[in-house]
Amino acid sequence: MNEFDVIRLLSERLPTSPPEVVVPVGDDCAVLRLGDGLWVAAADMLVFGRHFKEWAAPEDVGYKAVAVNVSDVAAMGGVPRFVLSSGGATDPETTLRCMNGVLQACEEFAVYPLGGDTTRAPALTVDVSILGQLSHAPVLRSGARPGDLLAVTGELGASVAGLLALENGDARLERLVKKHLRPEPRVEFGGAAARLGAHAMIDLSDGLASDVRYVCESSGVGCRISLDLLPIAGDTREYLRSVSRDPEILAATGGEDYELLIAASEEVVEALVAESGIPITVIGEVTEQKEVVFLRGGEPVENLSGWDHFSGA
Ligand SMILES: [Mg+2]
Repeated sequence: MNEFDVIRLLSERLPTSPPEVVVPVGDDCAVLRLGDGLWVAAADMLVFGRHFKEWAAPEDVGYKAVAVNVSDVAAMGGVPRFVLSSGGATDPETTLRCMNGVLQACEEFAVYPLGGDTTRAPALTVDVSILGQLSHAPVLRSGARPGDLLAVTGELGASVAGLLALENGDARLERLVKKHLRPEPRVEFGGAAARLGAHAMIDLSDGLASDVRYVCESSGVGCRISLDLLPIAGDTREYLRSVSRDPEILAATGGEDYELLIAASEEVVEALVAESGIPITVIGEVTEQKEVVFLRGGEPVENLSGWDHFSGA
C-alpha cells in the first residue's frame, strides 16, 4: 500500500459534501464558500526521521511547517490568513523552540495563529492547518489544456542540493541549506496567476516529475518537458556534480522546491513574466496525448518520479 492507496481508501469513505464545499479533497487545498467569500483550507505535517533529521533546528521545522502550508494556499491563487498548529517532542524545550519557529513564520507570511495543541511525543512532529482567502476563482490542477505552456517560478533543485549538503555535513553551503530549511512560497505570483487566468497550477512539493503528473492526470492531458530548460542555479549544479549526482534528474525528482508550476496560454505567461519580479521559465508544453514525456537533448528520459510519501526511509 502506498500514500495514494491510503488517500483513495479514505476518499471512498467521505460523506456527501455540504453545499459550501466548492472543491473537495484532491487539489492543493479544498475550496469553501463561506458567506460571500471563497476560502481555501489545507494541512501538512512534518515528522522527525521522515521529513527531517538531527540537522534541522526545531525552529526551522516549525517555520517550514507553516511555509509549506502557505505554499499550498499560493498554489490555489489565495492569500494565507490563519493557521492552527499542533506539535510535540520528547521534551518541552524542543516543543517550544519548534512553536517559536511556527510563530516566526506566521509573522513572515502575515498569517494569524488561531491556536493548536502541544504534547510530549516520541519524536519531533508538527502539523499545521491553514485557511486562505481567494479574491479570484481558484486555479485548480484540472484546468490544463493542450497547447498551454508549462512554466515554473524561481529555480529547481536547490532544496534537494541543500538536503544533500545537510546530510553530508556540508553546512557551509548556506544558500542551498536555507532553501531546504526555509522555503519561500510564491504567494504573490500565485495571486497574479489567478488574476491573469492561468489554467492550472500546483506547488512543487513532491518534485516536478510527480507534480506535473498530478496536473496532467486531473486535467486529462499529457505534456512534454525538456530537462535542458529546467532553471538550475550555478551553485546547485556545482554541488550536485561534486557529489556525483545528476543536476537535471535531481531538479526534476528531488522535491521540496515549493516553486509554482503553471499551465497557461502564452499571453498569460508573458504577462506574468512582465509583472512579477521573479524568474519564470517555460519548461515545456501541454499535449493532447495523455503521456508525460521528459526529454533531454531531444531523447526521452524514462522512469522519472518524485517522492513517495510511504516508501521506505
Ligand atoms: Mg501542494
